[in-house]
Amino acid sequence: MQPTLLIIDDSTVLRQQVVEILKETGGFSSFLEASNGIEGFKMLIDHDVDVVLCDLEMPGMDGLKFLDMRNARAEARDIPVILLTGREGQSQKIRGLERGASDYVTKPFDPGELIARVRVQVKIKHLQDDLREQNQRLEELSNTDPLTQLANRRFLMKTLDREFQRSVRNNDPLSMVMADIDHFKRINDTYGHQQGDVVLKAVSEALLDELREYDLAARFGGEEFALILPGTELPQATAAAERIRKRVSRLKFEGALKPLVLTISLGVATGPRKDVTVFDDLVRLSDDALYAAKREGRNRVVIADPP
Ligand code: GH3
Ligand code: MG
Ligand code: MG
Ligand code: MG
Repeated sequence: MQPTLLIIDDSTVLRQQVVEILKETGGFSSFLEASNGIEGFKMLIDHDVDVVLCDLEMPGMDGLKFLDMRNARAEARDIPVILLTGREGQSQKIRGLERGASDYVTKPFDPGELIARVRVQVKIKHLQDDLREQNQRLEELSNTDPLTQLANRRFLMKTLDREFQRSVRNNDPLSMVMADIDHFKRINDTYGHQQGDVVLKAVSEALLDELREYDLAARFGGEEFALILPGTELPQATAAAERIRKRVSRLKFEGALKPLVLTISLGVATGPRKDVTVFDDLVRLSDDALYAAKREGRNRVVIADPP
């Protein structure tokens, strides 16, 4: 894909000259033009710009102020800016670089130099973009359980920590559900580990399907799942758990798993309550409730004991 260059200069003649050089000899084809810093900044925000060429001296908003505006916007901060400067004004050039310009070109410029400097910045921008994408992908991977594609325990704990703080701050309810597949060991023993994995995936899909967008479903351990339901009171959380229980008991499987009747046990706890002071308390309470559900015969929802 051709990079998009934004040229900000109060001189129409100069802008045309830059475009011509970059188009004819530089092989670039995608240009945006602005005649002052404000207009240029709007274009920077509204378009996918790869490199900015910006005049240092312009009436109204000059190049330095433009850099300040760019720096204040996280999404624009990494877009390289090449300053177009006069021969004089060494101190201005230095200030520009200190304010975050990537480079400068002195007017009147040598076409070859202009092209070379723009190409360097385009290359850096693309490397940065690739790196950001890779980091994003890595972060997603580090938060995801590979088998079920649910959030993993690490991400669950991070989210719970954040949601717990929010809940305390705003005095909003926060519910947690712990769920564990009943007699999963038997399923593995009867149908094999691979079929066990199929069951884990089916349960994960059912969980996702029953939850709202801002809820979180995570694989907490082997065949154990945890749900975080922000802004949800105990009765609503219990109803959600009950919906999941019924849904799992109605799951139909194909092939070798066809005869399987699957059930799941769930424990529910909601804060704020006086014995919940740290987010681990919610984990402990919902886990205790889950184990009560197991003791009481499985395939049921149990609410944590009141404080
Ligand atoms: P309960 O109703 O009391 O929960 O009984 P259970 O058999 O489900 O519980 P238990 O903790 O005894 O067994 C859990 C089993 O889950 C044992 C383990 O081998 C299996 N398991 C854990 N992770 C995986 C996995 O990723 N894939 C498969 N197929 N099995 C797993
Ligand atoms: Mg000017
Ligand atoms: Mg189990
Ligand atoms: Mg278990």
